[in-house]
Amino acid sequence: MSEQPIPPTSQTPAVRSFKPLKPLDVALAELLATVTPCHDVEMVDLADADGRVLARDAVSALDVPGFDNSSMDGYAVCVAEAVAASERGLPVSQRIPAGHFGAPLASETVARIFTGAPIPEHADAVVMQEECAVDELGRVTVVVPARVGQNIRRRGEDVGQGTCVVAAGTRLRPDHIGLLASIGQASIPVVRRLRVALMSTGDELILPGQVAPADLPPGAIYSSNAFFLAHLLKRLGCEVHDFGNLPDSLEATKHAFREAAQNHDLVLTSGGVSVGEEDHVKPAVQSLGQLDLWSIAIKPGKPFAHGRLDRADGAAHFIGLPGNPVSSFVTFLVLVRPFIQKLSGQVRAEGPVGEALQLTANFDWPKPDKRREFLRVRRDATGQLHLFANQSSGVLTSVAWADGLVDNPPGQAIAKGDTVTFLPLSNLLG
Ligand code: AMP
Ligand code: MG
Repeated sequence: MSEQPIPPTSQTPAVRSFKPLKPLDVALAELLATVTPCHDVEMVDLADADGRVLARDAVSALDVPGFDNSSMDGYAVCVAEAVAASERGLPVSQRIPAGHFGAPLASETVARIFTGAPIPEHADAVVMQEECAVDELGRVTVVVPARVGQNIRRRGEDVGQGTCVVAAGTRLRPDHIGLLASIGQASIPVVRRLRVALMSTGDELILPGQVAPADLPPGAIYSSNAFFLAHLLKRLGCEVHDFGNLPDSLEATKHAFREAAQNHDLVLTSGGVSVGEEDHVKPAVQSLGQLDLWSIAIKPGKPFAHGRLDRADGAAHFIGLPGNPVSSFVTFLVLVRPFIQKLSGQVRAEGPVGEALQLTANFDWPKPDKRREFLRVRRDATGQLHLFANQSSGVLTSVAWADGLVDNPPGQAIAKGDTVTFLPLSNLLG
């Protein structure tokens, strides 16, 4: 494709003005600039908090642990006394299990103590039971030199009172939730789930289950995009409402958009954003709000539409993905995923494409595209990357086979042995 506009002549009527391809980073920045993070908050029990975005800093009202305690089963001692009594040993004056608070340690004695039990006053170390000898009279001798402070977990060493343990904007994982429990929180404020309306466009589309494979009409295909898109969205914490397949009709498309815009944060479509005559998404969005149609310099991908669908009290975001399944999939990961993350209030620590690794290509890619490419590859046990043979944007098998994408710069040929940038899919699918 030429980078220069072709001036209209008497033979070439000016049908459309040519727009240069937009680099992905520019497109993402412009897309994210349209997003105001959702501020609607709801309370959830910790049991339901996995994957939710914390709406406010979680600040601890207490020290954790709340008291000095033993990290071992053994004997709480005063080290100086234990050293002085290393010949004769010291009697056991009390027994302190976890959950019980002992008396101050009587001088010239030790306390039997268990993991998690509070350290009694006057004790300054815990000696693990394996490092003690107990004689027939029950007197305890420390046989391995003890150090003051050993085996004592200090009050507040995990969390200090008044510190923020999990910051607002964190997408909660099980470990965060455990930490919130440790500071006594039972329910927490989270950003409400985003509501996303999902639609597929195309007269050729049939839902699996609607018609058996043997009875599929000529020219028809099963719709696959809405299925992976719904699950990608759910993994990002969205509530998904699948409107199914829209026929290639302007009226039907407008009707569905108008309805979906009422109570969704985002209307996400696939297909119908090229410039074909059957592509009705563009005029439908334009008639209900506003639309930008971009050609993005990525492969697969390229066509991408975004804008808004107006309603009485505001607007829903609109995003139109390309119809080819791999284009739809990749475009979702590199543009929609960061968009959703920002809209859902998530503060993103990582870049838009997640963690990138530098690995060795075990393949040749002699004819790179002018666009930035995302090649479907698989990593072997030695860390070398293998290329899926068919990189067509219609071949969904390439994604299912792959465990990552090579992020290849525009025009960059690859020869076996070259170092390339690998994006693990496992990082991008959550
Ligand atoms: P379009 O962007 O509508 O021109 O579609 C491009 C290609 O993607 C065509 O081959 C469509 O049949 C195909 N396609 C569109 N939507 C879907 C879908 N939901 N599932 C599978 N393939 C699709
Ligand atoms: Mg179509």
